[in-house]
Amino acid sequence: MASKETAAASTEGVVRAVLRERRGCRVRAKAGKIMVSQGSCADGRRQRGSRPFGACSGCLWLLRSAREDDVPELPEVEHTARALAHWLTGQRIEGAEADPTRMLRGQSPRAFARMLKGRTLDRVERRGKAMLLTFDADAGLLSHLGMTGRWLRRLPGEPPPRHSRARIYLPQGVVLHNDDPRMFGRLLVAPASTLPALPDLLALGPDPLRDGVDASALGQAFARTTRPVKVALMDPTVIAGVGNIQATEALFRAGVHPARPAHGLAPDEVAAVAAGIEASITHTLASLAAQPEVAYLGSGLAPENPFLVYDRAGTPCPRCSTTLDKMTLGGRTSAYCPRCQPRCQPRRARRRRATSPSAGP
Ligand SMILES: [Zn+2]
Repeated sequence: MASKETAAASTEGVVRAVLRERRGCRVRAKAGKIMVSQGSCADGRRQRGSRPFGACSGCLWLLRSAREDDVPELPEVEHTARALAHWLTGQRIEGAEADPTRMLRGQSPRAFARMLKGRTLDRVERRGKAMLLTFDADAGLLSHLGMTGRWLRRLPGEPPPRHSRARIYLPQGVVLHNDDPRMFGRLLVAPASTLPALPDLLALGPDPLRDGVDASALGQAFARTTRPVKVALMDPTVIAGVGNIQATEALFRAGVHPARPAHGLAPDEVAAVAAGIEASITHTLASLAAQPEVAYLGSGLAPENPFLVYDRAGTPCPRCSTTLDKMTLGGRTSAYCPRCQPRCQPRRARRRRATSPSAGP
């Protein structure tokens, strides 16, 4: 069980995102506690002074429920996209409804129902963490799962999930629920042909599953930044869909310390990181495929931790048995092996780097 201090430090990034979303109180982690400074949140209640968890009741709930795991990451979304394609293919949608929540970003629930009723699925595509559903007659639905969103299928007689925010009704009483306790997800209906042109989708970097991870392109992106390599990996404009878990795992697989400046990596290290991302995503997808429903780590419903080092600080390295260490980068906790992932660039790689770029064919 993580200590209170670790939990506070590691949740800071998530909490920032939470409060930014609410235009909420300013927040920082100090001495192992989340400090909320004066501010007025979306509920319009002003906060007094700076004290741990000094937020209003709405922010307080979000703060307390904030976990470091900003899942879903790419594999969970891919798994969901495949499930949706499987559930919807060949089925005519009998009806659809959405509750009037912020997940609709101002669209009316009526537009959601009108767009989807009577449609049949053509295909489901994924762009980073966004799913684009294309139906006949150019009907389209963008679904982003945010932090806690899931699509769940319920058969007749099964109780609906607790936080169902939108529903798609299929023949024979089957219902697909969009379940999202914290409502950071997004549901947008629009003509399918217009969805890929959304600015936040256009800004995404290459998709590791769809496009593969091109080591030379990754190296070029790394060369432009002095940020720690782990922070660069979590930047969706560098590579789409990689979050804390996949970045932690990929760097362990590559034997690269998460705090190394991205621009200082040797070409063979960049290639190892690229291969690490692909291997980690493949591994996660395989472990998800064994589950009937997506359950995120930290949700209390997840099965055993399927990862090599993520969330395993303090336990022996699976490769060399050195005790895994942890550090916070970009507001997220990174577990790493101090021996397999040395902080200093290994001499071998340094020599190669010094010779390789200038050595022409
Ligand atoms: Zn090790």
